Parts: sequence; structure tokens; C-alpha cells
Amino acid sequence: MNYFVRSRGDETSDALCQRIRNYLTEFGLTESEEEPEIVISVGGDGTLLHAFHGYLHRLEETSFVGIHTGHLGFYADWKPEEVERLVIHIAKTPFQVVEYPLLEVVVRHLDAEEPDRYLALNECTVKTMEGSLVSNIEIKGEIFETFRGDGLCISTPSGSTAYNKALGGAILHPSLESMQVAEMASINNRIYRTIGSPLVLPQHHTCLLKPLNNVEMQLTVDHYSMVDRNIQSIQCRVAEEKIRFARFRPFPFWQRVKESFIGD
Ligand code: NAP
Ligand code: MN
Repeated sequence: MNYFVRSRGDETSDALCQRIRNYLTEFGLTESEEEPEIVISVGGDGTLLHAFHGYLHRLEETSFVGIHTGHLGFYADWKPEEVERLVIHIAKTPFQVVEYPLLEVVVRHLDAEEPDRYLALNECTVKTMEGSLVSNIEIKGEIFETFRGDGLCISTPSGSTAYNKALGGAILHPSLESMQVAEMASINNRIYRTIGSPLVLPQHHTCLLKPLNNVEMQLTVDHYSMVDRNIQSIQCRVAEEKIRFARFRPFPFWQRVKESFIGD
């Protein structure tokens, strides 16, 4: 079996990566950055986000596992002390796989035929470089509201504990094939009105943002950030693709939520 180890790049993570390589080589596994069946990310949740975006073209053939060298993560949920146990599992047993939903983002431009398509593991955010974002929001093809405010965050269930949570969004269990739309500081008064609460949409429901002012926009997809103009629409929905996590032991999601945000 081929594996790849990806480090956050700090000394601790690099050293741990080297130890993992040594163990797995002893067990007869081959390191392949191009065609790994398992990608071991060492660092934080951010490191796993980077690793995920490196294998978008082979999500069906790749499983991910994360070790944290800082605080406990949601994707990086193995402790450095457990690494021996983890490598033995990887080398000796066929592993179980758990799939989590992803978000598909399709950006159409006024001046281009071909849309841009992105996949997010955490979320997509839309803001403007200057002034408020003014955008119609269509849900399943029907206009729902006109949003005015700082921006919008559309997250996956596993991304719901990240930026979405800071915006007052709900934490969603990753077994729910859904996406969540959360507002960033919407303007609400006698003239402007938005729903004000986060919305959770099921599979096959699209959320289409149609900006009403042609200003420069800042789009983020996970840790990527881009400035874009002439945007006609931004379409979000639950992606057909999924991310696969290699599971070697139970560590229930709600326990990770508790340990991350409340403590032991
Ligand atoms: P970063 O600025 O280093 O990350 C921000 C924090 O979010 C880090 O503590 C990171 O954990 C944590 N995180 C990432 N994914 C998470 C998840 N699914 N659940 C809970 N926490 C998570 O940038 P980054 O490491 O490249 O991560 C990019 C992410 O930062 C974005 O996808 C967005 O969700 C998040 N973000 C949050 C805010 C906010 O809360 N106000 C603002 C901008 C971006 P690690 O330290 O383990 O990497
Ligand atoms: Mn980070």
C-alpha cells in the first residue's frame, strides 16, 4: 500500500513525519506523493485542509487521517503519543472508511462562458472588498431574500465547528448530508430584511447568490482566498464527491466537540 505523510512544516511535525516514514518503510509500505491510498497529515486541522486540496483529483482512491502536534483538532484527532498504534493499524489491518460531505461551489462570471468550480471541506465565504455585500439569495430556484451585510458563509457539516461556529451557526453532525448558510453582520432595519438565523439545507437544494452590485468580491474556499470581479452568481450545494477518513478506533464527533470546546 502507498502512503504519503504531510507535515505542517514546524520542527515537531517534521520529526514526527520522519518517525512515521521510518515505521511504515519497515512495515514494507511505499511512500508516494502522487498516488497514495492513505494521506497522513501531521500538524493541525489547517494541515489536513491543505492535504485534502492536494488530492481533489483522486478523492475516491485516497483516505485521510490527521495527527495533531498542537491542540486537538476535528480532522487531526490522533495524539502524537498514539503514533505507534496508528502505524501498526495502517500497516496491518484493512481500515474502515468514514465519508463526510463536501460543498460544491460554482462561480459564474458575466464575461466568461466557463464557470469555475471548487470543492470545500470547511466552507466558502463571500465578502466584498469595499462596502456591503448586496446579493439576492435564491433557494431551489426561488428568490428567498436580498442580503445586505458583511458577507455569507456556506459550510459543510464538518466545517460547522470552524468559521461557521464563530458566526453563531449550529454544529452539525457530519453524517447529515447538508450545508449551512450563515450570515456575517446582516443589516436589518425597516428597509433591509434578512432571515437572521442560519439555514441548513439538505442535499440537492441549491443556494444561489446573485450579487446586485458589480464590485470586487473576496471569495474564500477553506484556506484559499481570491479576489474576483464580474461575478454573475455563486452556486452552492452538497457535492457529489466526499472526503474519506480512515477510521481505526471510535472517537465520536460529539466527544471531539466536547474535548475541543468545553474540556474534559
Ligand atoms: P487558521 O487561521 O490557522 O485557522 C483558524 C482556526 O480554525 C485554527 O485554529 C484551525 O485549527 C481551526 N479549524 C480549521 N478547520 C476547523 C474545523 N473544521 N473545526 C474546528 N476548527 C477548525 O487557518 P487554517 O488553519 O488554514 O484554516 C482555515 C479555516 O480557518 C477556514 O476554513 C475557516 O473555517 C477558519 N477561519 C475561521 C475564522 C473565525 O473563526 N472567525 C475566520 C477565518 C477563517 P488548527 O489550528 O488545528 O489548524
Ligand atoms: Mn491553522
